[in-house]
Amino acid sequence: MNLAIKQLKEKILNSENILVVGHENPDGDTVGSVLGFSLLLKKMNKNCSVAFPNDAPDFLKWLPTYNESIIATSNYEKLSKILKDCELIIGLDFNEKARAANIFQLIQNLNIVKSIIDHHPFPEPFFDIIISEQNVSSTAELVYHFIENCNWTNLIDYDIATCIFTGILTDTLSFNVNAFRPKTFEISAKLLSYGINKDIIHQNIFDSYTEQRMRLLGYALHKKMKIIHEWSAGYIYLTKEELKEFCFQKGDSEGLVNYPLSIKGIRIAALFLERENYIKISIRSKGDVPANEIMMKYFKGGGHLNAAGGEEYNLSLEETIKKFEQILPLYKKYLQLK
Ligand code: 5GP
Ligand code: MN
Repeated sequence: MNLAIKQLKEKILNSENILVVGHENPDGDTVGSVLGFSLLLKKMNKNCSVAFPNDAPDFLKWLPTYNESIIATSNYEKLSKILKDCELIIGLDFNEKARAANIFQLIQNLNIVKSIIDHHPFPEPFFDIIISEQNVSSTAELVYHFIENCNWTNLIDYDIATCIFTGILTDTLSFNVNAFRPKTFEISAKLLSYGINKDIIHQNIFDSYTEQRMRLLGYALHKKMKIIHEWSAGYIYLTKEELKEFCFQKGDSEGLVNYPLSIKGIRIAALFLERENYIKISIRSKGDVPANEIMMKYFKGGGHLNAAGGEEYNLSLEETIKKFEQILPLYKKYLQLK
């Protein structure tokens, strides 16, 4: 067994009070992993709490015990109280403390063992125990792997399987991206054997659009998508006013960035959303086009090779887009294949 796995297993066995933490703007992988893992720890009779920096989108709130989670933006005091007795923090689906924003401001100087289980490259050495593996579909898959290594699979039940499966399903966009390894399907098959309903989980997540969200998608594709064939690139950009017009809610832009990639020849896609005081950028790519390098180098963001994001606080929407367009030629060898 790998040393970090052994260390985390021991620390879990020797701890009474544990906090499991997800990343800011929680996605299905972080919520599924956090809830699934915390349910397992509760079955081991641990006093386990769950915290997210801010609230998850509605399409994830049906997950078992989500409503018991502490949302740090609205319940900082409860979190501070829990931290007084906490012996172990387990962060899932992030590799740097900044991704757990307000929660890590609270815990970074506390004398508590801080661990992560994660699949993003370049984990920050800040954490005491780091279980990091990029060659998996999702953190949820890695959580299953950890449970298996600890010989705890007998504790998995319907709810836990539902949560972990949701993490895999969302991070792979229904087994469409980063889902080429037999192991991903082997683990998914094992999770299905707990009687979970894959079709219902899929519907809860992917078929839960509001009418406004669907109309925003139509508008974005029709009016606000620019394709630059020369650089195999496409992007969608939406202003504050447009988001307001379509009653934009958290989660409504989920998946939007991927659409330009469905156009033949497009290898890089971006989404620019004008928020209150910054521009949220999402990038997706195909093959070896390094989305995360672009985000790290030029936008102080990060992520995976083919899926990355960041925030731009110093430029306007227009300037951010211009900067992106100017970066494309620097990646000529990836974007002009002829
Ligand atoms: P999304 O575009 O869906 O927000 O994020 C895609 C990927 O990029 C995720 O793996 C996420 O962890 C990462 N990511 C998104 N925003 C940021 C950011 O502001 N900083 C960093 N380091 N990673 C980000
Ligand atoms: Mn993930």
